[in-house]
Parts: sequence; structure tokens; C-alpha cells
Amino acid sequence: MTLACPLELTKEPKIAYFSMEIGIQNDIPTYSGGLGVLAGDTIRTGADLKLPMVAVTILVKKGYFIQELDEYGKQTELPADWEPSKYMKLLPVKISVQIEGRDVLVQAWQYNVSSLTGGCIPIFFLDTDIPENIPEDREITAKLYGGDLSYRLKQEIVLGIGGVRMLHELDFEIKKYHMNEGHSSLLTLELLNRFKRPIEDVWDEKLVWDIEKVKDLCVFTTHTPIEAGHDRFPYDLVQKTLGDFIPLKVLKELGGQDNLNMTRLGLNLSEFINGVAKKHSEVSRSMFPGYEINAITNGVHSFTWTCDSFKRLFDKYLPGWANEPELFVRVGRIPDEEIWEAHLEAKNTLLDYVKRTTGVEMNKDILTIGFARRATAYKRADLIFSDIERLKKIGSGKLQIIYAGKAHPKDEPGKKLIEKIFSIKKELGSALKLSYLKNYDMDIALKMVSGVDVWLNTPLRPREASGTSGMKAAHNGVINFSILDGWWIEGHIEGYTGWSIGPNPTETTLVENMDSRDSDDLYHKLEHIIIPLYYQNRRTWIKMMQNAIGKNAYYFNSHRMMRRYVTDAYIR
Ligand SMILES: *Cc1c(COP(=O)(O)O)cnc(C)c1O
Repeated sequence: MTLACPLELTKEPKIAYFSMEIGIQNDIPTYSGGLGVLAGDTIRTGADLKLPMVAVTILVKKGYFIQELDEYGKQTELPADWEPSKYMKLLPVKISVQIEGRDVLVQAWQYNVSSLTGGCIPIFFLDTDIPENIPEDREITAKLYGGDLSYRLKQEIVLGIGGVRMLHELDFEIKKYHMNEGHSSLLTLELLNRFKRPIEDVWDEKLVWDIEKVKDLCVFTTHTPIEAGHDRFPYDLVQKTLGDFIPLKVLKELGGQDNLNMTRLGLNLSEFINGVAKKHSEVSRSMFPGYEINAITNGVHSFTWTCDSFKRLFDKYLPGWANEPELFVRVGRIPDEEIWEAHLEAKNTLLDYVKRTTGVEMNKDILTIGFARRATAYKRADLIFSDIERLKKIGSGKLQIIYAGKAHPKDEPGKKLIEKIFSIKKELGSALKLSYLKNYDMDIALKMVSGVDVWLNTPLRPREASGTSGMKAAHNGVINFSILDGWWIEGHIEGYTGWSIGPNPTETTLVENMDSRDSDDLYHKLEHIIIPLYYQNRRTWIKMMQNAIGKNAYYFNSHRMMRRYVTDAYIR
């Protein structure tokens, strides 16, 4: 849907949502994973709720990448070129930002996210691929998370500083700037400059910087406790790239003495700060003592993440559910048989896709486990293979597993994980079928979270800040079986909404976990609870599917999340 956003809407003050990546539709490859998909869900929901919002991101014309996997699971990356003009309109305005002393021109493409409710949110995709720029600068917005530190800093200058300037140029009045992760934190510096007080009006030189005013305008959401997720730039690089945009002394006070820490910059200049699940906020408070870090637990966009067969079922029994997911509370009205039928339809769709793309023929009567997310070490995609003999004994003839996930091009351990799963596939043989779908994207995600029976997640506690794919699964009656981390701590009721793996989460720092304790519990529950229930007590199984919808999807949707952002963060 790309109805025009009515222009008079620009007059109303807006919430400006900044994100380095946005997953807005499957064939626009400007996202790498959960952060971008969440951004897309946030904007879609904002449109449904008719919130006065605009969004800003960078164009990344070469996308993230297309994943190729050879027979050993070795990943190669192909550029994901796409044609912006097919989806969005180039605006006739340009602004400039200073990078390495040059004026770099930035243009914007407008993509409209329209809801059937009549709401509409424009996304501005910033683009430096303009003939007036030198070739190097034309590439700044080409690749998502590509290049070195210097390249990343340039992208963040375009996103943060360029984004604020572009919104200004387009005449928007902004009442809150919401930074989705630290990639856009440089916007705070642009605002500091904009609201600078004349030196002759203040009695202390420091007071030229109206920090309180900027804080009042800013909201910061942190998304991960993983170190690599927090950008840090050495100050010599910052000075070389950004010049004396803000005096170094002031910058160090705001962004850290040793190097420019984009999370710290965001934290220091935002009145409202939040983590993306209750546990994650607690972990973030211990990582960044002294800040008030609130919790707004993530949710997913219900309509986007419900497969066709369940959409029809919800339309029939819970009309209006898509814009009022609270109606899932009445899921008990749906007859068991129809839930099972809708599930089998989704399962068939997935198994057909598996066969077509991997050649692996799976059986729709066999309990099917799904695991798909970015392939990176802390997600422990291989935990279920800790003891292959034991897994074979438990699961032969009774279990099949479907995987998907891309590793970041520079994440060697992540790539090795994929190769490991491929080699285990051979080891397992035909008694326990395994398939790995290549090029995980939003379409494959929907097929997987709706088409398997159980959604598995086995991260190292407490590194999974939220996790959202399990919430998508719940929307399709797929039951979660996961480590107690992120959202699942809040969504889990043992044997009712799903099952936990491993001990109760007590750690608030990034200590190591005992893999064997977790895998032992995983095997134990598979063997003694999950497999018997699936094959011998289908009624109870379907009740649990209903509970996933009535308890998990009911709460872990982005309509609830956005209402929280409005009341807690945007209006205060
Ligand atoms: C939902 C989604 C993710 C995030 O999944 P997590 O469980 O949060 O890791 C990543 N990639 C795609 C394509 C998705 O749709």
C-alpha cells in the first residue's frame, strides 16, 4: 500500500523516528535483522494508530546482502541491488553535511506507509548518490553495516545530522526525536548546535549548550547488551571526519572520555531511555549505572506476522483483531479443529517451500522445530546438537528441524555455525531430517514462524535483549520452547504458553552460561514432555496453541508497544 500521505499532515508536530535499518517490505533489502524489522513494525503500527510520525533512515541502495550457501554451508554474499524509484519518490530538495571538510549533498526518497485506518507515515530514505558528490561520498549510503569504522561514522553523520536537517528543510515541526539504537545519536549534536545560546546571554561558557532543551526532545532506545552493538569511534577519527562540529571538550563530556560511545551520547542527551524487555532494562542499568532506564517490551505487528490461514480464522471469529490485538483474549471462541486446520495449511506451505528450495522432503505429521535468526555466536544455534547421539535417540522418526539465518559478512564464528549445522545435517541422516533455508528474509520468516510446530530459541543469557520471532510464532499458534531470556521471561508460563529451557535467569551481567545444563534440560523436555504431548495428546497441544495466541500474541504485539511509547515516552 502506497497511498499518498496527505500533505496537510506536515503541519502537525511530529514524532521523528530514526533508524539505521528499516524492514518495511520484503523486496526492499534495507534491513539485516530484528532491529530493522522492529522499526518496520513500529512504523506500520504508528500508521494504524494514526500517530503523527515521520521516519528517517538511509537508502542503502546495495542493500544488506543476498546469502548464498554451498553444499557445506559456506556463506558467500552477493549485493542486494534494488531500484528505489519502483517504490518511492525522489524529493526535489537537498541538504548538505560536512564530512572530512567537504560539503556532502544528501537527497531523500519518500516512501509512504499507509494503513487501512487512514493513517499514514512517510519514511525518508537519505541518499548521497548525487553527481555533485565525489565518488567516495556517493557510496556513503550504499551498504548496510558494510565498510570500516570511518565508513560507519560517515553513514551516521548522514543519518543523524543529515536527517535532522532534511526534516527541517521539509518544514516539519518535530516534538520528539526517537533514536532506535545509537546509530542516530549524532542527531543530538545537530540539535545542540541549533539551540545554542548566544555567548553574551550566559554567565558560564558551558551554558551556551542547552542540554536540557535537547534532552527534552529526545527518546533513546537501547537494543542489545552485546558490545559490538554499541558503536564507538576514536576521537581522532571523529575529529578528522566531523571537524569541530562540537568542541572536543564538550563532546567528551557527553560521549565518553576515551572514545565517542554512541550509546552514551544517546543516554546523556535523552530525557526518556528504555530497554526492549524488562530483563534487558535491568541488564542495561547494570551496564550503564546512573541512568534511569525504563522498560518497554517489544511487540510485533499482528497483521504483518499472521499467516493467511490464521488471518482468515481471526477475521471469522475475532473481527477487528488486526487493529485491536487485545481481541486475542477471546481466542477460546475458535474451535480446536479449525485452529489445527489453519496450522496444517501453514505447515504445508512451509514444507512445500523447504522441498522446492532445498530438496529435503519433510513429513507434515512429524513434530517440526524451527530456528531462524541472525547466525551469530550468542544465539547458540547449535545448542540442540550438543549431544548428537542423545538427540538421535530422542528424535529419530519423531522430529524434524528447519533452520535459517544470515551471518554478518565479517562474523566468522557466525559463518562457522552455519557450516557446523550443515555438517550435522549429514551426520543425522534421514532418520532426523534437517534443512537450512538460505537467504532468510521477512517472507521466509513468516513461512517459518507459522509453519513449524515449535519455535526454538537458545541464546546465552542475558544477551537476547528481547527477541521478536517468538512473538511472531505465537501469533500463528506456534508454541515457544526457549531459554528464559528477553521477552520469553515475561511471556512464559510453563506448560501453558510454552516451555522454558534451563534455569531461571538470575544473571544481570554478561557471564558465561553452562551449555550442558541448558542442553540437558532441552533434551529432557523434548523427550518427556513435548514429543509425548504432540503425538499423544493433541487436544492439550491445541489448547497450548490457543494460549500462545490468547496470552502471548495478546500482549506481545506492537499496538500495545506503541501505546506505551506514546504514554511513557512521547507525551511527557
Ligand atoms: C523477526 C525477524 C528477525 C528477528 O528475530 P529474533 O528472534 O529477534 O532474532 C530477524 N530477521 C528477520 C528476517 C525477521 O523477520
